[in-house]
Amino acid sequence: MISKNKEFADLHIHTDYSDGLFSPKTVVQRALELKLGAIAITDHDNIAGVQRAIEAARGTDLEIIPGIEISAADGDKEIHILGYFIDHTNIDLVESLGEMRRERIKRMERILALLSEKNISIPEDKVFGVKKENTVGRLHLARVMVEEKVVKHTKEAFDRYIGDKSSCCVKHKHLDYKDAVKMITSARGVAVLAHPGATKVDERIGDYVKAGVAGLEVYHSKHRNAEILRYQTIAEQYGLLVTGGSDCHGKPRGRILMGEVRVSREIVEKLRAASGRF
Ligand code: AMP
Ligand code: ZN
Ligand code: FE
Ligand code: FE
Repeated sequence: MISKNKEFADLHIHTDYSDGLFSPKTVVQRALELKLGAIAITDHDNIAGVQRAIEAARGTDLEIIPGIEISAADGDKEIHILGYFIDHTNIDLVESLGEMRRERIKRMERILALLSEKNISIPEDKVFGVKKENTVGRLHLARVMVEEKVVKHTKEAFDRYIGDKSSCCVKHKHLDYKDAVKMITSARGVAVLAHPGATKVDERIGDYVKAGVAGLEVYHSKHRNAEILRYQTIAEQYGLLVTGGSDCHGKPRGRILMGEVRVSREIVEKLRAASGRF
């Protein structure tokens, strides 16, 4: 069974360059233990972890697929677009992501100000962490809120304070989804709509395809069988590539999701071919 894992890839993994708990090196070690054949590093609005993972995997037979998960706007709705086999050294891409990283810092400062109006004071340096290159998000804040005993667990932080519809949530100043797709394709990556079962934008998929989205994340840790079937059908309808991954962020509630959602090598090869890069 274990050797068979080499045939599989987990195409959605976060590191501590966004809101994952593990460093790229630890992610690679875990993927090697699981004997996966390939993993994609898909940090929120960040590609700095990709090169670190490639270096950590050098000399092993684990393939690191350069990836990203961009937060984008479709009107009032936030959607996530994954990019695969992206050229993570592309200068325009690196510059745009630098801008997004700075916007995230400003947004987090506004969220902290809203919390402070409720007399909840959170040490800023704990939220922003130590690395200059990482993107900061609400999950970082939620973890610090647990440490500071403001809430019992991260879910409570989202439910009471910083969830999408909660009083202290500030929306990202997002890229329009068309620009996000262009960012990916201009860096020669393949754009894929992330976790459609969680985002619930089925009626918009046709427009995303027109904008250049070439794949649908059919398999995801939040998708149950009904959703998998539904998105398989939609992918077929639009001629989209079918992708999948765990969306592992580390070890919430003691369970590491990495490798629990995986796709076959054949899918990796289709993505590679679609990117035209390798
Ligand atoms: P951000 O990019 O700062 O808007 O944060 C988005 C991230 O926060 C997601 O990728 C999830 O990891 C996490 N998140 C968002 N909503 C929730 C929620 N209701 N419960 C737990 N985690 C959440
Ligand atoms: Zn996340
Ligand atoms: Fe996402
Ligand atoms: Fe994700």
